[in-house]
Amino acid sequence: MKKKIVVRDESSASNADVPVIPSQLKVTHQILSHWEPFRDLKARFADSRRAEQLSLRSQQRIVATVEDSVLRTEMAGLESLEEDAPKRILFYTPMGWLGQIRSHRRDEAWSASIWQTFFATAMGAQIPVISEKPLAACGCRKFQIDPLGDHISTCNSHSGAKKAHDWAVDQVADLFRTTHKVKTQQVIRSRGQHCGDIELAGYLANQAGPVPLVLDLRITHERFGRSSDLSINGNLHYTK
Ligand SMILES: [Zn+2]
Repeated sequence: MKKKIVVRDESSASNADVPVIPSQLKVTHQILSHWEPFRDLKARFADSRRAEQLSLRSQQRIVATVEDSVLRTEMAGLESLEEDAPKRILFYTPMGWLGQIRSHRRDEAWSASIWQTFFATAMGAQIPVISEKPLAACGCRKFQIDPLGDHISTCNSHSGAKKAHDWAVDQVADLFRTTHKVKTQQVIRSRGQHCGDIELAGYLANQAGPVPLVLDLRITHERFGRSSDLSINGNLHYTK
């Protein structure tokens, strides 16, 4: 449980010299950055998988309009028209959803072992349901299932990756159904000759008539797990 120390000091402006109890946030910050045991712990995990996992889970700051964004036109349209207006900054908190989830039905609730697997993966620790048993070969017969779960999360034979992709496609399609006519079957091919996952009918309208938008949903795991080059297994996909 977190306890918050509330400082009531209505006269702080006039009594600048009067000592004030620092906020809990400040005290925690001071302890974490200066107390020896925490500094040792930080040094021990520097450049480790856990440190990388922590930075992946921490809040990320993203400038709304960048050249390589697929939504650059849409994002630019939302920018302020005032001169010298500061660029909009978006914040992404990867673990933020944990504060929002509620299971509505009993069959939606996660079992204790799924929670355990989720947190072990998030922290970069070995996954108990894998590491407790002798190492097994994956269904693809090319790799062993590693206790950190990199291979099992990325292998596309018998690992459930396709099932997870199709589930995610259904969820994204449902989100668009409130505003668009959406198709997930017999989706027309996009320019790249790649079969898309979701088609939004009449996304744009021009002289030639309505133009659909085809989305191809791709989920990239944060680490390599399926590769002919074993030396890069477990390395980060994106190091920025
Ligand atoms: Zn495999």
